[in-house]
Amino acid sequence: MNGFTLGVDIGGTKISTSVVDRSGSLVSPVMTVETPASAGASTILDAAFGLIERGRATHPGIHAVGVGSAGVFDARGVVVSSTDLLSGWIGTDVSGILSARSALPVVTVNDVHAAAVGEHAIGAASGCDTALVVAVGTGVGGAIIMNGAVSYGRAGVAGSVGHVTIASENHRRCSCGEVDHVEPHASGIGMELSYFENTGRTLSLRDIAALARGGDAIARETIRSGASLLAGAIASAVNLIDPEIVVVGGGVAQIGDLYLDAVSRRVATLALGGAATVPVVAAKLGSSSALIGAGLLAHRIAANSV
Ligand SMILES: [Zn+2]
Repeated sequence: MNGFTLGVDIGGTKISTSVVDRSGSLVSPVMTVETPASAGASTILDAAFGLIERGRATHPGIHAVGVGSAGVFDARGVVVSSTDLLSGWIGTDVSGILSARSALPVVTVNDVHAAAVGEHAIGAASGCDTALVVAVGTGVGGAIIMNGAVSYGRAGVAGSVGHVTIASENHRRCSCGEVDHVEPHASGIGMELSYFENTGRTLSLRDIAALARGGDAIARETIRSGASLLAGAIASAVNLIDPEIVVVGGGVAQIGDLYLDAVSRRVATLALGGAATVPVVAAKLGSSSALIGAGLLAHRIAANSV
């Protein structure tokens, strides 16, 4: 069947949408609005629905909508758990509400699960039977591709690399409420906090990375340490699933080789036996991976609903 879908990415700061064809190509410009994150679920969904309507107006033949969003989702597209990033998000029937309003089939999954669908279809994990996809940004998310498909797990949390427990003398509380998870150390916010603790200066990760490239020792150590802690969690996952490839995306990965080389070297040190040679590569689809993956999932449900 021909036709197009809308991919929608609901994040903590912005909501984006674009028209996606069956091959995963974006066939319209990406439209973006700010997420009214603190205004409650119905206002957030109003903003998402507004974008969906604008997307439909630009392109005929939209036959389904795919949503990738922050939060943990059940198989029906209801938010099971979520950090405080999106207020009132827990319990929201994202798929049901958007489907009722748009009169289109809607599928909703976690944004990193959606990104993994995209990277597996046409990105860095293309052709892989088994892969680990990690997204490092404000938080640390992950997804496992197993037997050629993203594994969601029984409770929707499969691949949550950010919530692997690490040994640390600096007990930071994770966004999930636990202490000693890797996320509050290895995320962008975590590295900014580490830099502040070592210097008393509040800088964005982008500025810290610029200092590191210029040779600043504390900035380099901040990024190396964050990369190393993330690599520990990745190596634990690699030892469990023995993937063909590890794909690292998200805003923090855009620091580039300085960061990715540190992650890669540390994974090679920590992973077991032959798994130590697993390639650790940058995500290919950049900030569009969740949009593309969500749009492709929508093609799949549309195919199953006719
Ligand atoms: Zn956690």
